[in-house]
Amino acid sequence: MTAEAGGHHHDLGHHHPEPDEPLTSVDAHLADIAATIRPLPPTDLGLAEAEGCVLAEDVTAGAALPPFDNSAMDGYALHASDVAEASKDAPVTLPVVGEVAAGDTGAYAVAPGTCMRITTGAKLPGGADAVIPVEQTDGGVAKVSIRASVGPGHAVRFSGGDARAGEVLLTAGTRLGPMQVAVAAAAGRGRLAVYPRPRVVVLSTGNELTEPGHGLVPGKIWDSNSYMLAAAARQADCLAFRHGPIPDDPLEMLPAIEDQLLRADLIVTSGGVSMGGEHDVVKETLGRLGTIRFRKVAMQPGMPQGFGTIGEDQTPIFTLPGNPVSAYVSFQLFVLAGLGALQGQRGRSLPLVRAALGGPLRSPPSKRSYLRGMLDRVAGTVTPLAGQGSHQVATLGKANALIVVPEWVVQMKEGDEVEVMVLP
Ligand code: AMP
Ligand code: MG
Repeated sequence: MTAEAGGHHHDLGHHHPEPDEPLTSVDAHLADIAATIRPLPPTDLGLAEAEGCVLAEDVTAGAALPPFDNSAMDGYALHASDVAEASKDAPVTLPVVGEVAAGDTGAYAVAPGTCMRITTGAKLPGGADAVIPVEQTDGGVAKVSIRASVGPGHAVRFSGGDARAGEVLLTAGTRLGPMQVAVAAAAGRGRLAVYPRPRVVVLSTGNELTEPGHGLVPGKIWDSNSYMLAAAARQADCLAFRHGPIPDDPLEMLPAIEDQLLRADLIVTSGGVSMGGEHDVVKETLGRLGTIRFRKVAMQPGMPQGFGTIGEDQTPIFTLPGNPVSAYVSFQLFVLAGLGALQGQRGRSLPLVRAALGGPLRSPPSKRSYLRGMLDRVAGTVTPLAGQGSHQVATLGKANALIVVPEWVVQMKEGDEVEVMVLP
């Protein structure tokens, strides 16, 4: 890593923002993101690959679910009328004419006055209209003594009782988690049209950055952002590629970012976008690759934000501030929304809940604050953590929520109700 980046900056010229540049609201910045990012082309993937992607089609039940009447229990399939009088004191004995197990495709039938052993999931034999659970019998093999009565339909899962043929089971726009994958598989779908997992390239910038695991010399710090942002992208169901620290030198940064355009659906950088210094090279450099708006967003942390598109394919790029807390909050607010847009989802955001403040807080005027907090969902409380500086990475290790304080609020007291963003 080079430390002598200074000399080249003048070649590229400087963009100095107006000192009194008006603040952009969080919502206006989000609206800009939503208006700019187009969904990725949908693609046809096998079920295993489709997991974690977003459906680009409705999934309908091709046939009724379940497809045939079957037993809900291990027991005996019979005519309910044959055991209408059965009880503990007056058991009814029926001959057992055979056995049908799950997966058996035979065409069986049960005549009145007889029964058939049956296992859970086995096709109900013709004629039978109920199943008596084995627990209410003596478990007999040739004949069985039944000590309870059942009504018609007892312990039977009827065809179509889960879903009718043609019923929409999953709608386009649904993210395929384990449950949704199960539904698609149960409906017999081997492949699905999906918006693929976005490929996210993460790059950190800064002369001060050193790879964790290597020794530090005074004046340097370890790069936490690139690992954090790549992890956050993976947690958001993306494929993430991490690029190690890039020095504050346009001549190194420009090719590094250009190289990544090949494999990126979206690029996230951290650092180098503050409001003034000539070391804020990201700002200086990226203007040459595309259209990026650098603005001050009315929030804390995370005020300096850059967003736009670069390269031939107009790849979306987020240039996040370097302070780790700012970078993290910016990811969960803005990058997450951008990732949603890539998969055809509008307004993707973390879940919001309401909770009572476990302690007082302060917030700057005219800015929306995102304070790290400890949410106790059982108690319905959220407590602001000590150490809210945007460089205070230690607090990130304790937080499970962000307390959202509106722009017009400057202080709140214990017990006040607040909106809370639940961190993944
Ligand atoms: P910058 O946005 O480049 O002005 O950086 C703001 C602050 O964040 C500085 O204290 C940087 O040292 C710190 N910082 C920048 N990038 C990283 C990173 N990748 N990991 C940890 N801290 C960083
Ligand atoms: Mg920097």
